[in-house]
Amino acid sequence: MRALKMKMIVFLMVVTITTMSFGQEIALPNVKILATGGTIAGSASSATSGSYSAAQIGIQTMINAVPGIKEIADVSGEQISNVGSQDMSIEIWLKLANRINELLASDEVDGIVITHGTDTLEETAYFLSLVIKSDKPVVTTGSMRSSTSISAEGPLNLYNAVAIAANPESNGKGVMVSLNDQIHTARDVSKMNTTNVNSFQSPIKGMLGGVFYGRLGFFREPNTKFGNTSEFSITGVKELPRVDIIYAYADMSPDLINMHVKAGAKGIVIAGVGNGNMTDAILRAAKSAYENHGVFVVRSTRAATGWVLRDNEFKDDDYHTIASGDLNPAKARILLMLALSKGEKLSNMQTLFDTY
Ligand code: ASP
Repeated sequence: MRALKMKMIVFLMVVTITTMSFGQEIALPNVKILATGGTIAGSASSATSGSYSAAQIGIQTMINAVPGIKEIADVSGEQISNVGSQDMSIEIWLKLANRINELLASDEVDGIVITHGTDTLEETAYFLSLVIKSDKPVVTTGSMRSSTSISAEGPLNLYNAVAIAANPESNGKGVMVSLNDQIHTARDVSKMNTTNVNSFQSPIKGMLGGVFYGRLGFFREPNTKFGNTSEFSITGVKELPRVDIIYAYADMSPDLINMHVKAGAKGIVIAGVGNGNMTDAILRAAKSAYENHGVFVVRSTRAATGWVLRDNEFKDDDYHTIASGDLNPAKARILLMLALSKGEKLSNMQTLFDTY
């Protein structure tokens, strides 16, 4: 009788331990999906029409359209905004970033996915990469075709983004951008084509990794500062200083600099020709903008890819200009806004551009 009792106890212990470990095995990572709008949430009256309206459907409808998503993560959605990303604003960035920092501070959340329009996706992703204080994965995604389009790619992009956010290998990689089976760093990626599903590319450094129906691998590490090691913070920040972008071209007028200074810009990024060049008159206007109004001028480029090097065809110190390196104008603007908001001095600006 005693032996039988012992056997029962051992059997129950084994059952309990097995159930516990089985339970652990099937506990799915918690991934929160924050929706902001875009074509991924867009719809059209016809599946074969290229005309559509962005930001029409809500997050729950988007989640429901992805078969198998609940088998790879415990997903829940939250609507942060519902806009075409051409209407993305600093106000929404701050709301989004604060919410992400709050969610990732909790043990309940393992990763974040953000659905977003593709037009300004790289800007939002880069901004977030500088101000999110966590090593947990944050993956932004979108689509080039609306949710009602023939061969809409949004559901697979969302499935892959959730798989990336749910995978512990994605920790410490900063904010990522994933569309079309590719994974990119927020910093290196650009929208390179207006309509193609293969629009997102990292022309200088290449992809960070790849993802195929949720199976993923990383090919390299990001090589600039972000996340926990970033010195930028949005704690208590309600707005950012105005920074404008001016597109350079042959024979451009120096009035442009003065107009932006008058309008209240605290910084100006020039999408320069070639290696961040501009007319001599603009250069002199840039010098005077800093000397007379304390306005910082960054030299970026209108070329699709390549570095803007310091002291290339003239000495930057002579004009108080900062070279953007391989940051495109839109991203250079974000870094300059954050640097200005923390009161950064001109003497340290180039180092920041070389670091982030
Ligand atoms: N205009 C759209 C947007 O950025 C384009 C897209 O999402 O693909 O919201």
